[in-house]
Amino acid sequence: MKENVIKLHDKKFKVMIPAAKIEEAVAAVAAKINEDYREKRNPLFLGVLNGSFMFMSDLLKKIDFNCEISFVKLSSYCGTSSSGDVKCLIGLGNNIEGRDVIIVEDIVDTGASIEHMVEELKTKKPASIRVCTLFFKPKAYQRQIPIDYPAMHIGNEFIVGYGLDYDQLGRNYKDVYVVTE
Ligand code: 5GP
Ligand code: MG
Ligand code: MG
Repeated sequence: MKENVIKLHDKKFKVMIPAAKIEEAVAAVAAKINEDYREKRNPLFLGVLNGSFMFMSDLLKKIDFNCEISFVKLSSYCGTSSSGDVKCLIGLGNNIEGRDVIIVEDIVDTGASIEHMVEELKTKKPASIRVCTLFFKPKAYQRQIPIDYPAMHIGNEFIVGYGLDYDQLGRNYKDVYVVTE
């Protein structure tokens, strides 16, 4: 790891999970998915931008069956009205009817985002939807959507790196950092 402490905007962050540990967790979750999906027909991995970009890349390199890969984004702005609660799924070009879909998230915290996304995808009648996330905060989670493939469990701390940002900075670092003091 290059630096032990990084400064993003007004805050300092220190390494919490080194890249090698992330790699192990990604390999383990990929092995589970390989096991479960071997018999399925061309499942669709749907990465949620921006946070999942690095995880998607590393995860999919370890997936050993034929699959499709696409990305979507959740925007807080929909049509003419803007609200923190009303999120809009953008960029889904694929027809997912009858498809096996695996959503790939960077982090599931309260679960509001993933619940919204699953509800919206269900209206498009996929054969199945499962959720894979790099990080899962079980103590913060308040929804009923099953989190099928959590690569790592963490507490309620705020983390950055490996795709995750603090006000858009920090996504490029290969280690995961936690805010200090
Ligand atoms: P939820 O809707 O599950 O409460 O929150 C999910 C979103 O909140 C994530 O996609 C992410 O953008 C943000 N988030 C939650 N916890 C963290 C964290 O520890 N670090 C960062 N960088 N973002 C987080
Ligand atoms: Mg996310
Ligand atoms: Mg963010």
